[in-house]
Amino acid sequence: MSTTSSVPTVTLNNGVEIPQLGFGVFQIPPADTKAATATALEIGYRHIDTAEMYGNEEGVGQAVRESGIPREEIFVTSKLNNGFHEPEAAAAAFQRTLETLDLGYVDLFLMHWPLPGVGDFVETWKAMEHMYEGGKVRAIGVSNFKQHHLNRLLAETTVVPAANQIEIHPYLTQDDMREYDREHSIATEAWSPIAQGKVLDDAVIERIARRVDRSTAQVVLRWHIQRGDIVFPKSVTPERVRANFELFDFELSDADMSEITALNRDERTGPDPDHFNYIPS
Ligand code: NDP
Repeated sequence: MSTTSSVPTVTLNNGVEIPQLGFGVFQIPPADTKAATATALEIGYRHIDTAEMYGNEEGVGQAVRESGIPREEIFVTSKLNNGFHEPEAAAAAFQRTLETLDLGYVDLFLMHWPLPGVGDFVETWKAMEHMYEGGKVRAIGVSNFKQHHLNRLLAETTVVPAANQIEIHPYLTQDDMREYDREHSIATEAWSPIAQGKVLDDAVIERIARRVDRSTAQVVLRWHIQRGDIVFPKSVTPERVRANFELFDFELSDADMSEITALNRDERTGPDPDHFNYIPS
């Protein structure tokens, strides 16, 4: 079995440490989530990324509770769903997340989307500041925020988000956004780190993978790690879950890193946050 000792941590702006590599559970059916999470924990993952929107917080909580691993050794992120941006609704939604996970506290709670056409995300953030004061969440952050969204939070609120979780992979390298986050002590998290598989047959990545004798997924995930971003690839395939964890016994050269970064096409696989105002029914 792998150990967690090889996974570096990133220190968030309030001192909380987050493992740089985790396991994402988006699109894992609720009925399968407990088993998938248990597999990841057995392999050595100690960071799970879920969301109320995924409908599978319960399975994550069960797997963590039944793992036999001390609660404080596992980092769990969840997210405020889009229908609950109004401050009172946000507080109630956080309470439900706490109860559904049933882990005593949440390590990181993110505003899932800014939803600029729906309400005022600044007021939602103030509600999240109250959650943070309540002590049941160790850090609060945002997801899918652009610079102009973050500028408003920095100007109009008190707590600087600990993290910004955004789509990043070799076809969407987000260098400006990452630089902005770094300048403001906000950790960048990369969602869809392998673009849901779309970057895995890229000729440049295949060539590098042959040379370092790794899979293309491992090369892309290692690229993220060496850039310093936090990643949590999703897989329901145990061999892939294991392979995605084996990133710490090889290195990419500076030339490899530059070649992969140069693949950028500013190509999103998901929605543009400025135009995404979806409320799940
Ligand atoms: P990923 O980039 O992690 O890709 C997942 C897909 O790649 C699955 O189809 C999986 O297949 C396949 N895959 C995984 N590992 C390998 C491998 N080693 N070789 C070949 N194929 C592989 O996409 P996600 O969108 O799931 O992103 C990861 C996580 O990011 C999510 O689970 C979620 O936690 C978070 N996220 C956050 C968002 C946000 O708005 N904040 C939006 C989207 C994601 P299979 O499962 O069949 O093995």
